[in-house]
Amino acid sequence: MPQTLMADKAAFDVDKIREDFPILSQTVRGKPLVYLDNAATTQKPRRVIERVRRFDTEEYGTVRRGAYRLCEHATQLFEDSRQKVADFLGAGNKKEIVFTSGTTQAINLVAYSFGRRFVYAGDEIIISNIEHHANTVPWQVLCEERGARLKVIPVNDAGELILEEYEKLLSDRTRLVAVNHVSNALGTVNPVREITEKAHAAGARVLIDGAQSTPHMKVDVREIGCDFYTFSGHKMYAPSGVGGVFGKMELWQEMPPYVTGGDMIMKVTLEKTTYAPPPARFEAGTPAITQVIGLGEAIDYLNGIGMDRISQYEKSLLEYGSRVLGAIDGLRIIGTAHDKAALISFALDVAHPHDVVTLLDQDGIAVRGGHHCAQPTMVRFGVPATSRASMAFYNKPEELDALAESLQKVIKLFS
Ligand code: PMP
Repeated sequence: MPQTLMADKAAFDVDKIREDFPILSQTVRGKPLVYLDNAATTQKPRRVIERVRRFDTEEYGTVRRGAYRLCEHATQLFEDSRQKVADFLGAGNKKEIVFTSGTTQAINLVAYSFGRRFVYAGDEIIISNIEHHANTVPWQVLCEERGARLKVIPVNDAGELILEEYEKLLSDRTRLVAVNHVSNALGTVNPVREITEKAHAAGARVLIDGAQSTPHMKVDVREIGCDFYTFSGHKMYAPSGVGGVFGKMELWQEMPPYVTGGDMIMKVTLEKTTYAPPPARFEAGTPAITQVIGLGEAIDYLNGIGMDRISQYEKSLLEYGSRVLGAIDGLRIIGTAHDKAALISFALDVAHPHDVVTLLDQDGIAVRGGHHCAQPTMVRFGVPATSRASMAFYNKPEELDALAESLQKVIKLFS
């Protein structure tokens, strides 16, 4: 193990952290599980699993509606989670947090609702060339419906947004800029504060897709200055089925509902309905109660470790992994941005990513192969797909050694 990681070990006891995650101690095909698909979804610490179990066993009730004890208690826990999310993201007001099923629904909500209120024929929306389909397709649909135009910020060969080109795309017709904070396909960390400042100077609003940043770094939406910021619980060591979006209250107040029905109304008559104020206006129907409470627990867990320590440790993992994988003949790392999250996308000269990941699985190594829901990114880099090792703070350098060793076997097999 390299010196830096040995030094980090004193500050960050990864073996101890791993004890919090029961799933990590299992074997796959007789080999220790090496879980490196954290950009797809993360594993849950015992504390989250236990909190969810206890809530469902002893405390479960619906939220918002009843006056009895179980309901009042569940509502309190649910709203406590909203406060935890607001604090975690640096939002000033917990009512600026709207729960959804995840980032996909969050972006669809903004595209639909912001779009209907603020986007008209001839207007423009800007995305980048390295967006997840969840931050691409909703804007395409919106532009088609409203007669607006979608413009795309190009990237350089390292996978970094070309900011001079971005500036040229901005105009008084730009209504919204929607980019990710961290690219799930390449790991690029985008300069979201600068992007936001430039958009605001042009009079445009900004949505940041935070699906890949919230689990790995300290986020402060007020410092970034963005108008919307999305997240997914299942990538933050919390249950699946919950996520959400921060939005500035002045915007939420102006926006029409997306999904309609129960819980989002002020008053319904057969002739007319008036809507509840945000966030209820955007949370129709019974929410993912248990999952939201699990998310609050995951945030407590992450805060207990500290997001700055997490990102520092993951940075050392990235450096180590890039060195080990970069030393393999016939392996090309795709995405070499200066500022990068702990994620390595790569292509082997001799084997397709689908074969690569199937063979890695024989060694108990879980790595994703495919287009990562970012087909325009793959086209930009001239590959149909990549293999992607995405790390979390419970991964160890030894696991990256195991990955490298297994990849050498794949190369030998195909050569
Ligand atoms: N954006 C990015 C950058 C992502 O990585 C993902 C998930 N891979 C999404 C959006 C969609 O998130 P979800 O599937 O949780 O809705």
